[in-house]
Amino acid sequence: MRKNVIAGNWKMNKNLSEAVELISNLKAELEGKTLNADVIVAPPFTALETINSLIKDSVIQLSAQNMHNENNGAFTGEISAEMLKSVGCKYVILGHSERRTIFGETDEFINQKVLQAFENGLTPILCCGESLEERENNKTFDVVGTQIKAGLKNLTNDQIKSMIIAYEPIWAIGTGKTASPEQAQEVHAYIRKLLSEVASEEVAQSVTLQYGGSVKPGNAKELLSQTDIDGALVGGACLKADSFRDIILSI
Ligand code: PEP
Repeated sequence: MRKNVIAGNWKMNKNLSEAVELISNLKAELEGKTLNADVIVAPPFTALETINSLIKDSVIQLSAQNMHNENNGAFTGEISAEMLKSVGCKYVILGHSERRTIFGETDEFINQKVLQAFENGLTPILCCGESLEERENNKTFDVVGTQIKAGLKNLTNDQIKSMIIAYEPIWAIGTGKTASPEQAQEVHAYIRKLLSEVASEEVAQSVTLQYGGSVKPGNAKELLSQTDIDGALVGGACLKADSFRDIILSI
């Protein structure tokens, strides 16, 4: 059985006291609830250690939003997988479209990070997704296929099996435009088929696939009920504890 996973990407939001307030509210919202999904939060680097100490007695798990591909050295301003591990991270989001488009991260660089995450015992949440122009030019499968094949290069089947892949169409991120459940399912099914080719059918059936892109309490249930959608990567709607709770309870 695949794991359902709802993850909240806080992006560059919440100073330390705001982060403490959000996590305290989320813990309170989830207390005593029966959950059908693992819950992950990805706060900014500056809040990781504090949040880690606050979620120890809860179901919430910790992720970082990014990392460097080297473990140490002269990389001013960067954070390594080893450092993330040392403050309690279990997961790391890699290849988010904002990293790809704003910071020019390539598939090869992202693959190096994926390998380095595994070296340090972190589970990658590998993001992929097409732009509006690519979708309109019928390039969605090509783009997503290339990103995934490159991102998974040199991984073992066991590693692929343990990770999370998030399909996040760029045109739906932070725009309020959500992929329809059918559009999202179509790409998720394609990703699962691709995984059966690059790894095996067993791996393909085991990998948790998340949808991301303007997921909100009002659309989560329908998206999350699709056959190949096992969770969500949530941006804007995870910044309020009650809306994130409603999304978590939608699965
Ligand atoms: C994201 O950044 O991963 C995301 C899905 O953002 P939003 O939910 O705000 O579209």
